[in-house]
Amino acid sequence: MSDTKHPHRVGEHAVVVGASMAGLCAARVLADRFARVSVVDRDTFPTDQRQPRGQVPQGRHPHLLHIAGARLLDGWFPGIVAELYDGGAVELDLCADFYWHQAGGVAQRTATDLKGPAASRPFLEATVRRRLAQLSNVAIHDRCAVTGAEFVGDRMTGVRLAEDATLHADLVIDATGRQARSLVWLRSAGYAPPPVDTVEVDTRYATQVYRRDPRIALDWKAAAVIDEPSTRRLAMAVPAEGDRWLVVLGGLNGEVPPVEPCERLAWAESLPSPVIADLMASSEPVGDPVTHRFPANQRRRLDKLRRFPSGWTLLGDAVCSFDPIYGQGMTSAALQAAALGACLDRTSSVDQRFGRRFHKSVAAVVAAPWSVAVGGDFAYAGTTGPKPFGTDVLNRYIRRVTVAAQHDDRVAIRFNEVVAMVRRPESLLTPMFALRALRTSMRGPAPAALNESFDRLPRDAPPVHHTGAT
Ligand SMILES: Cc1cc2nc3c(=O)[nH]c(=O)nc-3n(C[C@H](O)[C@H](O)[C@H](O)COP(=O)(O)OP(=O)(O)OC[C@H]3O[C@@H](n4cnc5c(N)ncnc54)[C@H](O)[C@@H]3O)c2cc1C
Repeated sequence: MSDTKHPHRVGEHAVVVGASMAGLCAARVLADRFARVSVVDRDTFPTDQRQPRGQVPQGRHPHLLHIAGARLLDGWFPGIVAELYDGGAVELDLCADFYWHQAGGVAQRTATDLKGPAASRPFLEATVRRRLAQLSNVAIHDRCAVTGAEFVGDRMTGVRLAEDATLHADLVIDATGRQARSLVWLRSAGYAPPPVDTVEVDTRYATQVYRRDPRIALDWKAAAVIDEPSTRRLAMAVPAEGDRWLVVLGGLNGEVPPVEPCERLAWAESLPSPVIADLMASSEPVGDPVTHRFPANQRRRLDKLRRFPSGWTLLGDAVCSFDPIYGQGMTSAALQAAALGACLDRTSSVDQRFGRRFHKSVAAVVAAPWSVAVGGDFAYAGTTGPKPFGTDVLNRYIRRVTVAAQHDDRVAIRFNEVVAMVRRPESLLTPMFALRALRTSMRGPAPAALNESFDRLPRDAPPVHHTGAT
């Protein structure tokens, strides 16, 4: 039984395919509602908590966990956020501790309750996995690839494993990421796949780890510098456990950030604020840079599926995969898992009615982050795909909000609440807020000096070079 007492049992056995962030969140929710939960992943879980996994290559890049996600995790696994801090994660107030340079100026920084842990993706995932494994009715298996599914009539009754074994289940959750492996199994059983929305952005990441000297006190703990859309460039520096900085240079619409050290520095210096270039120039790199190419935002419209088997659904990136620059994937997965729990609480069996209700519910959950990612990406001229009506007007307005946030604490807080996914994007459109933001934005971008009260890092350290050490 799960450690949290929950009165509502929906079934005997649930199987989650994929033990990445979405699968782990789903399994936690299912543990309260099924007698047993099995989580299977084809990958090998590393013994070192900081080691990225082979099947989750994005784990080498910075992963922001937004506040809404951190709060859900802390509710499911009480004390997990404190545990992350104990392991070296850095507490980050999204508004007060983040140096955010965009639209020609720096956002106001003021103390809020938007606090969460900055940690590497492998450490976060390993901590969640360890806590999940402590639940007595959950079994997690690595090196266990799922190769197909079993059906009886219009119901998925289990999954097939590589060695021809079958895991029977009342509910199968496919949390296998963007590819959504189960759609192949569904197709061979005669089910059409859901319609897919695709917005191509071609985002490139190049991440380098640096040593972080905790004795150097900066007046910010993380930084993002987002250049004008015409340059298609941005950079972000986030702290992680193990006294590390993860510094990513990002390019959109095919802009490729370099990996060669001098070119990386020159690229960072081309940005409108020196903070990240300073950090790179004065810090010791660890290992080699790694790259990632993200082709397109992708949303599967489960809510438009006409026919699907009972006892099956998708969750996480399998439903919706967002341009990573907005850092929404893990929090969206957690919100989807919460929606799964809420839908299960309203049903007595995992039937078609439950499926339809969940598909509607998950579509509503991903609608907000989808509008943020796709809307933001259309500010870049090379982005292609179905453009939501009014996007250009909205983007001009959001730019004004960004400028207003450089002068006005209250605008900055509301903006960050939306970024943190604790408020819906529509909250930026209320008449009172819009009036305030539009009026304040008339002042123009805040001169950098106004909000850049930080001490610049000394540049007297040796120029960036590779140590080759890890
Ligand atoms: C470069 C980059 C940066 C990102 N940055 C952020 C960020 O800052 N913040 C954020 O919230 N999100 C970020 N994301 C998104 C985030 O990584 C995902 O949203 C998150 O990992 C949840 O994905 P998932 O669990 O659905 O799938 P995945 O993480 O893709 O995991 C799928 C799992 O399924 C397993 N699997 C696949 N096939 C099988 C099979 N047949 N049998 C068994 N197991 C199988 C795989 O081994 C894997 O473990 C970023 C993504 C990228 C690409």
